[in-house]
Amino acid sequence: MRPEDPRVDEDTGEAWGLALLAGDRTGRRIPPDDRRAAVRAALAAGIRAARCCRAAHETADPVRIAAQAGVDVIWSTDAPALGSMVRIAEYAPRPATIRVFMESVRAIQSAACALPVPEIYVAHELFHHLDATALRPVSDLARVTLARLGPWTWRSGVHALSEIAAHAFAQGLLDLPWFPGPLDRLARESTPHGSWWDGGSSTENHSRIIQ
Ligand SMILES: [Zn+2]
Repeated sequence: MRPEDPRVDEDTGEAWGLALLAGDRTGRRIPPDDRRAAVRAALAAGIRAARCCRAAHETADPVRIAAQAGVDVIWSTDAPALGSMVRIAEYAPRPATIRVFMESVRAIQSAACALPVPEIYVAHELFHHLDATALRPVSDLARVTLARLGPWTWRSGVHALSEIAAHAFAQGLLDLPWFPGPLDRLARESTPHGSWWDGGSSTENHSRIIQ
């Protein structure tokens, strides 16, 4: 990869990941000089997990893999709007469930006809399941200081790194020609207000329950 080539950069998600960190209140605590390495590590973790997953399950179909892994996939017709957010998909750990919001998926699909949009978001949420149950959490690839008070220091991982890895996982599993992160905003653009949300992407909500 040639980092100076912007097209290649977009294909791999490096530019998208850097922009996500810069706009994330936790991610922007990573020193600017360290962000590219953190993004690359998250991308590599997602691609590595995709390769392992394909080999272990002998399929690249994320719906079949979810079934084999005991994760329910629900194709929800519920309205995706939640306050000012627009949900695309979400993962809940107990019981392990992926919920895909069809209204959002259809909006993205209409703008990206050639791509397997439902499968992309099932794969994305499948990574969150693996991240929560089987992997070293990708969010811990970078630890940042949230606050200090006297002798106490509050530190946190960076959830945005998990978002970067989840999109890289989908790209690797489905052999997509380019990084699917930019698809998220097509759900946002389909609505008159608010921001998109794949359930784990909210930079304001780091709860793993609704990831
Ligand atoms: Zn996510």
